[in-house]
Amino acid sequence: MSTITVLGSGILGLTNAFELRRKGHKVVIVARDLPWDRFSQSFASPWAGANWCSFASKEEIDEQRWDAKTYQVWRNLESELSDQIIARLNFTELSPAERGKEDVWFSDLVDDFKILPKTTDELGKGSDFAITYTSFTISVPNYTEWLVSQLKSETPLEVPSCLKSSKWGPPVEFIRTSTLGSIRSAAELVPGCEVMINCTGLGSLDLEGVEDRNVHPIMGQTVLINVPSFRSQASSSYSSPCRCVMKVGKSPIKKETTTRKTKPGGDDGQQEEEEEEDGKQASYVIPRARTGQVILGGSFQVGKASPLTPDKALTERIIKSCSQLVPEILGPDGKVDIISENIGLRPARHGGARVEIGQSVVGLLDEQGGKTRQVGVVHSYGIGPAGYQASFGIAEQVVQLTEKLLKGRQP
Ligand code: FAD
Repeated sequence: MSTITVLGSGILGLTNAFELRRKGHKVVIVARDLPWDRFSQSFASPWAGANWCSFASKEEIDEQRWDAKTYQVWRNLESELSDQIIARLNFTELSPAERGKEDVWFSDLVDDFKILPKTTDELGKGSDFAITYTSFTISVPNYTEWLVSQLKSETPLEVPSCLKSSKWGPPVEFIRTSTLGSIRSAAELVPGCEVMINCTGLGSLDLEGVEDRNVHPIMGQTVLINVPSFRSQASSSYSSPCRCVMKVGKSPIKKETTTRKTKPGGDDGQQEEEEEEDGKQASYVIPRARTGQVILGGSFQVGKASPLTPDKALTERIIKSCSQLVPEILGPDGKVDIISENIGLRPARHGGARVEIGQSVVGLLDEQGGKTRQVGVVHSYGIGPAGYQASFGIAEQVVQLTEKLLKGRQP
Protein backbone atom coordinates (compact mmCIF):
# COMPACT_ATOMS: atom_id res chain seq x y z
CA MET A 1 0.00 0.00 0.00
CA SER A 2 1.45 3.40 -0.99
CA THR A 3 1.19 6.53 1.10
CA ILE A 4 -0.11 9.56 -0.79
CA THR A 5 -0.27 13.11 0.59
CA VAL A 6 -3.05 15.31 -0.73
CA LEU A 7 -2.15 18.95 -0.23
CA GLY A 8 -5.40 20.94 -0.07
CA SER A 9 -8.83 20.08 1.20
CA GLY A 10 -11.22 21.81 -1.19
CA ILE A 11 -13.46 19.76 -3.46
CA LEU A 12 -10.52 18.59 -5.61
CA GLY A 13 -8.46 17.51 -2.58
CA LEU A 14 -11.42 15.63 -1.10
CA THR A 15 -12.51 13.90 -4.32
CA ASN A 16 -8.93 12.95 -5.25
CA ALA A 17 -8.47 11.52 -1.74
CA PHE A 18 -11.73 9.58 -2.05
CA GLU A 19 -10.76 8.00 -5.39
CA LEU A 20 -7.19 7.23 -4.24
CA ARG A 21 -8.54 5.55 -1.12
CA ARG A 22 -10.99 3.61 -3.26
CA LYS A 23 -8.01 2.21 -5.20
CA GLY A 24 -6.41 0.96 -2.00
CA HIS A 25 -3.94 3.75 -1.18
CA LYS A 26 -3.23 5.23 2.24
CA VAL A 27 -4.11 8.94 1.98
CA VAL A 28 -3.24 11.82 4.31
CA ILE A 29 -4.79 15.25 3.66
CA VAL A 30 -2.68 18.26 4.67
CA ALA A 31 -4.30 21.70 4.38
CA ARG A 32 -4.66 25.15 5.86
CA ASP A 33 -8.46 25.23 5.38
CA LEU A 34 -10.33 22.05 6.22
CA PRO A 35 -13.77 21.07 4.91
CA TRP A 36 -15.55 22.05 8.11
CA ASP A 37 -14.25 25.66 7.84
CA ARG A 38 -17.51 26.53 6.14
CA PHE A 39 -17.14 30.28 6.37
CA SER A 40 -13.46 30.61 5.44
CA GLN A 41 -12.90 32.84 2.44
CA SER A 42 -9.34 31.56 2.03
CA PHE A 43 -10.56 28.76 -0.17
CA ALA A 44 -13.20 28.49 -2.88
CA SER A 45 -15.08 25.31 -2.15
CA PRO A 46 -17.58 26.44 0.53
CA TRP A 47 -18.88 29.23 -1.73
CA ALA A 48 -20.06 27.30 -4.79
CA GLY A 49 -23.73 27.23 -5.92
CA ALA A 50 -23.41 24.42 -6.95
CA ASN A 51 -24.66 22.62 -10.01
CA TRP A 52 -23.59 20.83 -13.19
CA CYS A 53 -23.51 23.15 -16.19
CA SER A 54 -20.56 22.38 -18.42
CA PHE A 55 -18.66 25.39 -19.72
CA ALA A 56 -16.39 23.23 -21.90
CA SER A 57 -16.41 24.22 -25.55
CA LYS A 58 -16.12 21.76 -28.40
CA GLU A 59 -12.29 22.08 -28.40
CA GLU A 60 -11.87 21.53 -24.65
CA ILE A 61 -11.56 17.75 -24.67
CA ASP A 62 -10.08 17.29 -21.17
CA GLU A 63 -12.77 19.49 -19.62
CA GLN A 64 -15.45 17.54 -21.52
CA ARG A 65 -14.10 14.24 -20.18
CA TRP A 66 -13.95 15.54 -16.59
CA ASP A 67 -17.48 16.97 -16.73
CA ALA A 68 -18.91 13.87 -18.42
CA LYS A 69 -17.46 11.52 -15.82
CA THR A 70 -18.85 13.63 -12.98
CA TYR A 71 -22.30 13.81 -14.60
CA GLN A 72 -22.34 9.99 -14.78
CA VAL A 73 -21.24 9.61 -11.15
CA TRP A 74 -23.72 12.25 -9.94
CA ARG A 75 -26.56 10.55 -11.84
CA ASN A 76 -25.84 7.43 -9.77
CA LEU A 77 -25.32 9.33 -6.54
CA GLU A 78 -28.60 11.14 -7.00
CA SER A 79 -30.50 7.88 -7.25
CA GLU A 80 -29.07 6.60 -3.96
CA LEU A 81 -28.40 9.60 -1.70
CA SER A 82 -30.82 12.02 -0.04
CA ASP A 83 -32.01 14.96 -2.13
CA GLN A 84 -30.69 17.12 0.71
CA ILE A 85 -27.20 16.16 -0.57
CA ILE A 86 -27.73 15.98 -4.33
CA ALA A 87 -30.89 16.62 -6.29
CA ARG A 88 -31.99 16.30 -9.90
CA LEU A 89 -33.36 19.46 -11.46
CA ASN A 90 -34.69 20.82 -14.67
CA PHE A 91 -32.03 23.12 -16.06
CA THR A 92 -32.61 25.79 -18.67
CA GLU A 93 -29.68 27.65 -20.18
CA LEU A 94 -30.22 30.80 -22.19
CA SER A 95 -27.15 31.84 -24.09
CA PRO A 96 -26.25 34.44 -26.63
CA ALA A 97 -25.21 33.27 -30.07
CA GLU A 98 -21.58 33.12 -28.99
CA ARG A 99 -22.24 29.74 -27.36
CA GLY A 100 -24.03 27.99 -30.17
CA LYS A 101 -25.31 24.55 -31.00
CA GLU A 102 -21.85 23.31 -32.02
CA ASP A 103 -20.54 24.02 -28.50
CA VAL A 104 -23.09 21.76 -26.88
CA TRP A 105 -21.01 18.59 -26.86
CA PHE A 106 -23.11 17.02 -24.09
CA SER A 107 -26.47 16.59 -25.84
CA ASP A 108 -26.08 12.77 -25.85
CA LEU A 109 -24.70 12.63 -22.31
CA VAL A 110 -27.36 14.45 -20.30
CA ASP A 111 -30.92 13.27 -19.77
CA ASP A 112 -33.91 14.95 -21.46
CA PHE A 113 -31.85 17.29 -23.65
CA LYS A 114 -33.85 19.68 -25.87
CA ILE A 115 -33.07 22.77 -27.90
CA LEU A 116 -35.76 25.35 -27.17
CA PRO A 117 -37.44 27.41 -29.86
CA LYS A 118 -35.96 30.87 -30.33
CA THR A 119 -37.52 33.17 -27.78
CA THR A 120 -38.33 36.83 -28.16
CA ASP A 121 -39.84 37.53 -24.73
CA GLU A 122 -38.18 39.40 -21.83
CA LEU A 123 -36.78 36.16 -20.36
CA GLY A 124 -34.94 35.25 -23.48
CA LYS A 125 -33.90 38.75 -24.51
CA GLY A 126 -30.42 38.61 -26.03
CA SER A 127 -30.60 34.81 -26.28
CA ASP A 128 -30.32 33.41 -29.75
CA PHE A 129 -29.94 29.93 -28.43
CA ALA A 130 -31.53 28.12 -25.48
CA ILE A 131 -31.38 24.55 -24.21
CA THR A 132 -32.96 22.50 -21.45
CA TYR A 133 -31.87 19.24 -19.82
CA THR A 134 -31.81 17.35 -16.54
CA SER A 135 -28.96 18.51 -14.35
CA PHE A 136 -27.95 18.08 -10.73
CA THR A 137 -27.52 20.49 -7.89
CA ILE A 138 -25.69 19.76 -4.70
CA SER A 139 -26.02 21.35 -1.30
CA VAL A 140 -22.34 22.14 -0.71
CA PRO A 141 -22.35 21.76 3.11
CA ASN A 142 -24.25 18.45 2.99
CA TYR A 143 -22.28 17.02 0.06
CA THR A 144 -18.99 17.95 1.75
CA GLU A 145 -20.14 16.36 4.99
CA TRP A 146 -21.04 13.15 3.12
CA LEU A 147 -17.64 13.04 1.37
CA VAL A 148 -15.77 13.65 4.64
CA SER A 149 -17.75 10.94 6.41
CA GLN A 150 -16.77 8.48 3.64
CA LEU A 151 -13.13 9.49 3.95
CA LYS A 152 -13.04 9.08 7.72
CA SER A 153 -15.11 5.95 8.20
CA GLU A 154 -13.81 2.40 8.57
CA THR A 155 -14.67 -0.04 5.79
CA PRO A 156 -17.15 -1.07 4.58
CA LEU A 157 -18.28 2.37 3.51
CA GLU A 158 -21.85 3.47 2.93
CA VAL A 159 -21.31 4.43 -0.69
CA PRO A 160 -23.59 4.11 -3.70
CA SER A 161 -23.04 1.09 -5.92
CA CYS A 162 -21.17 3.04 -8.62
CA LEU A 163 -18.42 3.83 -6.10
CA LYS A 164 -18.10 0.44 -4.41
CA SER A 165 -14.64 -1.09 -4.06
CA SER A 166 -13.15 -4.27 -2.71
CA LYS A 167 -9.84 -2.69 -1.70
CA TRP A 168 -10.40 0.51 0.27
CA GLY A 169 -7.29 2.04 1.82
CA PRO A 170 -7.40 2.95 5.54
CA PRO A 171 -9.46 5.92 6.81
CA VAL A 172 -8.03 9.24 5.65
CA GLU A 173 -6.21 11.38 8.19
CA PHE A 174 -6.61 15.19 8.10
CA ILE A 175 -3.71 17.42 9.24
CA ARG A 176 -4.26 21.17 9.63
CA THR A 177 -1.29 23.35 8.75
CA SER A 178 -0.48 27.01 8.46
CA THR A 179 0.06 28.37 4.93
CA LEU A 180 2.88 26.13 3.75
CA GLY A 181 5.70 27.75 1.81
CA SER A 182 6.65 24.80 -0.36
CA ILE A 183 5.68 21.39 -1.68
CA ARG A 184 8.65 20.04 0.28
CA SER A 185 7.30 21.25 3.64
CA ALA A 186 4.07 19.35 2.99
CA ALA A 187 5.96 16.18 2.05
CA GLU A 188 8.01 16.42 5.24
CA LEU A 189 4.87 16.27 7.38
CA VAL A 190 3.89 12.77 6.24
CA PRO A 191 6.34 9.94 6.98
CA GLY A 192 6.73 7.51 4.08
CA CYS A 193 4.90 9.75 1.57
CA GLU A 194 5.66 8.61 -1.98
CA VAL A 195 3.49 10.95 -4.04
CA MET A 196 2.17 14.44 -3.32
CA ILE A 197 -1.05 15.60 -5.00
CA ASN A 198 -1.05 19.39 -5.26
CA CYS A 199 -4.66 20.64 -4.88
CA THR A 200 -3.90 24.09 -3.50
CA GLY A 201 -6.01 26.14 -5.93
CA LEU A 202 -4.92 29.77 -5.69
CA GLY A 203 -2.12 28.67 -3.33
CA SER A 204 -0.20 27.40 -6.38
CA LEU A 205 0.61 30.99 -7.27
CA ASP A 206 3.09 31.30 -4.39
CA LEU A 207 3.91 27.73 -3.38
CA GLU A 208 7.63 27.11 -3.83
CA GLY A 209 8.13 24.29 -6.30
CA VAL A 210 5.07 25.42 -8.30
CA GLU A 211 4.88 29.26 -8.43
CA ASP A 212 2.48 29.21 -11.34
CA ARG A 213 1.98 32.77 -12.64
CA ASN A 214 -1.00 31.63 -14.74
CA VAL A 215 -3.08 31.09 -11.61
CA HIS A 216 -5.54 33.89 -10.87
CA PRO A 217 -8.79 34.44 -8.96
CA ILE A 218 -12.24 34.88 -10.48
CA MET A 219 -14.35 36.51 -7.81
CA GLY A 220 -17.95 35.33 -7.55
CA GLN A 221 -20.79 36.87 -5.58
CA THR A 222 -24.05 35.04 -4.84
CA VAL A 223 -27.14 35.78 -2.79
CA LEU A 224 -28.84 33.05 -0.73
CA ILE A 225 -32.55 33.71 -0.31
CA ASN A 226 -35.55 32.09 1.32
CA VAL A 227 -38.61 31.40 -0.85
CA PRO A 228 -41.29 29.82 1.40
CA SER A 229 -43.42 28.73 -1.57
CA PHE A 230 -40.54 26.54 -2.84
CA ARG A 231 -40.18 24.75 0.50
CA SER A 232 -42.36 21.74 -0.24
CA GLN A 233 -40.69 21.01 -3.57
CA ALA A 234 -38.93 17.65 -3.53
CA SER A 235 -36.28 16.93 -6.10
CA SER A 236 -38.55 14.66 -8.12
CA SER A 237 -41.02 17.48 -8.59
CA TYR A 238 -38.51 19.99 -9.84
CA SER A 239 -40.57 21.71 -12.43
CA SER A 240 -41.69 25.26 -12.94
CA PRO A 241 -41.40 27.41 -10.85
CA CYS A 242 -38.80 25.45 -8.89
CA ARG A 243 -36.26 25.13 -11.67
CA CYS A 244 -32.79 26.33 -12.43
CA VAL A 245 -32.39 28.96 -15.08
CA MET A 246 -29.03 30.29 -16.16
CA LYS A 247 -28.21 32.97 -18.65
CA VAL A 248 -24.58 32.77 -19.71
CA GLY A 249 -22.36 35.08 -21.68
CA LYS A 250 -19.07 33.97 -23.15
CA SER A 251 -17.62 30.85 -21.56
CA PRO A 252 -16.18 31.82 -18.18
CA ILE A 253 -13.74 28.89 -18.36
CA LYS A 254 -12.58 29.62 -21.89
CA LYS A 255 -8.89 28.88 -22.21
CA GLU A 256 -6.65 31.78 -22.96
CA THR A 257 -3.52 31.01 -24.88
CA THR A 258 -1.43 33.84 -23.45
CA THR A 259 0.71 33.22 -20.40
CA ARG A 260 0.32 35.68 -17.57
CA LYS A 261 3.54 37.40 -16.61
CA THR A 262 2.49 39.32 -13.51
CA LYS A 263 0.53 38.58 -10.36
CA PRO A 264 -3.11 39.74 -10.03
CA GLY A 265 -3.25 43.36 -8.96
CA GLY A 266 -0.23 44.26 -11.06
CA ASP A 267 -2.18 44.67 -14.28
CA ASP A 268 -3.06 47.79 -16.17
CA GLY A 269 -6.43 49.31 -17.04
CA GLN A 270 -7.23 46.62 -19.57
CA GLN A 271 -7.75 44.15 -16.73
CA GLU A 272 -10.26 46.55 -15.16
CA GLU A 273 -12.25 46.58 -18.39
CA GLU A 274 -12.28 42.79 -18.49
CA GLU A 275 -13.51 42.65 -14.90
CA GLU A 276 -16.30 45.07 -15.54
CA GLU A 277 -17.54 43.13 -18.52
CA ASP A 278 -17.09 39.71 -16.95
CA GLY A 279 -18.92 40.89 -13.85
CA LYS A 280 -22.09 40.94 -15.92
CA GLN A 281 -21.67 37.55 -17.50
CA ALA A 282 -24.18 35.18 -15.95
CA SER A 283 -27.41 35.12 -14.03
CA TYR A 284 -28.59 31.94 -12.40
CA VAL A 285 -31.25 30.72 -10.02
CA ILE A 286 -30.52 27.41 -8.26
CA PRO A 287 -33.18 26.08 -5.88
CA ARG A 288 -32.24 23.61 -3.14
CA ALA A 289 -34.61 20.70 -2.60
CA ARG A 290 -37.29 21.10 0.06
CA THR A 291 -35.54 23.80 2.09
CA GLY A 292 -37.01 26.84 0.34
CA GLN A 293 -33.44 28.09 -0.05
CA VAL A 294 -32.44 29.41 -3.45
CA ILE A 295 -28.99 30.54 -4.66
CA LEU A 296 -28.98 33.56 -6.94
CA GLY A 297 -25.89 34.37 -8.96
CA GLY A 298 -23.68 35.73 -9.96
CA SER A 299 -20.56 37.40 -11.05
CA PHE A 300 -17.34 36.28 -12.77
CA GLN A 301 -14.86 39.06 -11.95
CA VAL A 302 -11.59 37.95 -13.50
CA GLY A 303 -8.46 38.90 -11.55
CA LYS A 304 -10.37 40.46 -8.66
CA ALA A 305 -9.38 39.23 -5.18
CA SER A 306 -10.67 41.96 -2.87
CA PRO A 307 -12.58 43.29 -1.06
CA LEU A 308 -14.12 40.08 0.26
CA THR A 309 -17.25 41.92 1.34
CA PRO A 310 -20.51 41.95 -0.64
CA ASP A 311 -20.97 44.66 -3.21
CA LYS A 312 -24.48 45.99 -2.51
CA ALA A 313 -24.96 47.29 -6.04
CA LEU A 314 -24.03 43.88 -7.40
CA THR A 315 -26.49 42.21 -5.02
CA GLU A 316 -29.22 44.48 -6.42
CA ARG A 317 -28.18 43.65 -9.99
CA ILE A 318 -28.22 39.91 -9.23
CA ILE A 319 -31.68 40.08 -7.63
CA LYS A 320 -33.06 42.15 -10.50
CA SER A 321 -31.79 39.88 -13.27
CA CYS A 322 -32.69 36.67 -11.41
CA SER A 323 -36.24 37.86 -10.73
CA GLN A 324 -36.60 38.46 -14.46
CA LEU A 325 -35.56 34.85 -15.05
CA VAL A 326 -37.75 33.35 -12.29
CA PRO A 327 -40.32 35.94 -11.07
CA GLU A 328 -41.66 33.45 -8.45
CA ILE A 329 -38.65 34.20 -6.19
CA LEU A 330 -40.21 37.58 -5.33
CA GLY A 331 -42.45 37.86 -2.26
CA PRO A 332 -45.87 39.59 -2.32
CA ASP A 333 -44.07 42.88 -1.57
CA GLY A 334 -41.95 42.47 -4.71
CA LYS A 335 -38.81 41.85 -2.64
CA VAL A 336 -36.65 38.82 -1.87
CA ASP A 337 -35.95 37.49 1.62
CA ILE A 338 -32.12 37.55 1.84
CA ILE A 339 -30.39 34.99 4.09
CA SER A 340 -26.81 35.89 3.15
CA GLU A 341 -24.65 37.54 0.50
CA ASN A 342 -21.57 35.47 -0.29
CA ILE A 343 -18.20 36.03 -1.94
CA GLY A 344 -15.79 33.34 -3.09
CA LEU A 345 -12.60 33.29 -5.16
CA ARG A 346 -12.59 30.65 -7.89
CA PRO A 347 -9.04 29.32 -8.47
CA ALA A 348 -8.62 29.75 -12.23
CA ARG A 349 -5.63 29.35 -14.51
CA HIS A 350 -4.76 30.83 -17.91
CA GLY A 351 -4.44 27.80 -20.19
CA GLY A 352 -6.94 25.73 -18.21
CA ALA A 353 -6.65 23.51 -15.15
CA ARG A 354 -3.33 21.76 -14.60
CA VAL A 355 -3.77 18.02 -14.12
CA GLU A 356 -0.42 16.40 -14.84
CA ILE A 357 2.74 14.95 -13.35
CA GLY A 358 4.95 17.81 -12.17
CA GLN A 359 8.60 18.29 -13.00
CA SER A 360 9.55 18.77 -9.38
CA VAL A 361 10.51 15.69 -7.42
CA VAL A 362 11.19 16.30 -3.76
CA GLY A 363 14.18 14.44 -2.30
CA LEU A 364 13.80 13.82 1.43
CA LEU A 365 16.30 12.29 3.80
CA ASP A 366 14.68 9.36 5.60
CA GLU A 367 15.34 9.18 9.32
CA GLN A 368 15.82 5.44 9.12
CA GLY A 369 18.98 4.46 7.31
CA GLY A 370 19.76 7.99 6.11
CA LYS A 371 18.51 7.19 2.58
CA THR A 372 17.05 9.81 0.26
CA ARG A 373 13.37 9.28 -0.45
CA GLN A 374 11.97 10.67 -3.72
CA VAL A 375 8.47 12.16 -3.60
CA GLY A 376 6.80 12.65 -6.98
CA VAL A 377 4.25 15.40 -7.59
CA VAL A 378 0.89 15.28 -9.40
CA HIS A 379 -0.80 18.65 -9.94
CA SER A 380 -4.56 19.12 -9.72
CA TYR A 381 -5.42 22.82 -9.56
CA GLY A 382 -6.76 25.79 -11.49
CA ILE A 383 -10.24 24.51 -12.38
CA GLY A 384 -11.87 27.95 -11.90
CA PRO A 385 -15.69 27.86 -11.97
CA ALA A 386 -16.06 24.10 -12.52
CA GLY A 387 -14.46 22.32 -9.55
CA TYR A 388 -17.54 20.42 -8.46
CA GLN A 389 -18.81 19.43 -11.89
CA ALA A 390 -15.34 18.25 -12.97
CA SER A 391 -14.35 16.64 -9.65
CA PHE A 392 -14.79 12.93 -10.35
CA GLY A 393 -13.31 13.25 -13.85
CA ILE A 394 -10.21 15.01 -12.53
CA ALA A 395 -9.89 12.46 -9.72
CA GLU A 396 -9.99 9.62 -12.25
CA GLN A 397 -7.05 11.21 -14.09
CA VAL A 398 -5.17 11.92 -10.85
CA VAL A 399 -5.42 8.24 -9.87
CA GLN A 400 -4.03 7.21 -13.28
CA LEU A 401 -1.13 9.67 -13.04
CA THR A 402 -0.34 8.64 -9.45
CA GLU A 403 -0.28 4.97 -10.37
CA LYS A 404 1.95 5.74 -13.36
CA LEU A 405 4.42 7.49 -11.04
CA LEU A 406 4.36 4.63 -8.54
CA LYS A 407 4.82 2.04 -11.27
CA GLY A 408 7.83 3.93 -12.63
CA ARG A 409 9.48 3.54 -9.22
CA GLN A 410 9.20 -0.21 -9.05
CA PRO A 411 12.56 -1.93 -9.40
P1 FAD B 1 -10.06 25.33 -3.04
O1 FAD B 1 -11.45 25.03 -2.64
O2 FAD B 1 -9.69 26.77 -3.11
O3 FAD B 1 -9.10 24.58 -1.99
C1 FAD B 1 -7.72 24.85 -1.90
C2 FAD B 1 -7.15 24.09 -0.70
O4 FAD B 1 -5.74 24.26 -0.66
C3 FAD B 1 -7.67 24.59 0.64
O5 FAD B 1 -7.78 23.50 1.55
C4 FAD B 1 -6.54 25.53 1.10
O6 FAD B 1 -6.48 25.70 2.49
C5 FAD B 1 -5.34 24.74 0.62
N1 FAD B 1 -4.12 25.55 0.45
C6 FAD B 1 -3.88 26.48 -0.50
N2 FAD B 1 -2.63 26.96 -0.38
C7 FAD B 1 -2.08 26.32 0.70
C8 FAD B 1 -0.82 26.39 1.33
N3 FAD B 1 0.17 27.18 0.89
N4 FAD B 1 -0.59 25.62 2.42
C9 FAD B 1 -1.57 24.78 2.87
N5 FAD B 1 -2.79 24.67 2.30
C10 FAD B 1 -3.03 25.43 1.23
N6 FAD B 1 -18.16 24.86 -9.36
C11 FAD B 1 -19.02 23.98 -9.93
O7 FAD B 1 -18.61 22.91 -10.39
N7 FAD B 1 -20.36 24.27 -10.03
C12 FAD B 1 -20.88 25.43 -9.55
O8 FAD B 1 -22.10 25.65 -9.64
C13 FAD B 1 -19.99 26.38 -8.96
N8 FAD B 1 -20.46 27.57 -8.49
C14 FAD B 1 -19.59 28.46 -7.91
C15 FAD B 1 -20.09 29.67 -7.43
C16 FAD B 1 -19.24 30.57 -6.79
C17 FAD B 1 -19.78 31.88 -6.30
C18 FAD B 1 -17.88 30.23 -6.60
C19 FAD B 1 -16.95 31.14 -5.85
C20 FAD B 1 -17.38 29.02 -7.09
C21 FAD B 1 -18.21 28.15 -7.78
N9 FAD B 1 -17.73 26.95 -8.32
C22 FAD B 1 -18.60 26.04 -8.88
C23 FAD B 1 -16.28 26.69 -8.41
C24 FAD B 1 -15.77 25.79 -7.31
O9 FAD B 1 -16.15 26.29 -6.06
C25 FAD B 1 -14.24 25.71 -7.42
O10 FAD B 1 -13.88 25.28 -8.72
C26 FAD B 1 -13.69 24.69 -6.42
O11 FAD B 1 -14.14 24.98 -5.13
C27 FAD B 1 -12.16 24.65 -6.45
O12 FAD B 1 -11.75 23.69 -5.54
P2 FAD B 1 -10.22 23.40 -5.23
O13 FAD B 1 -10.21 22.18 -4.37
O14 FAD B 1 -9.45 23.38 -6.51
O15 FAD B 1 -9.68 24.69 -4.45
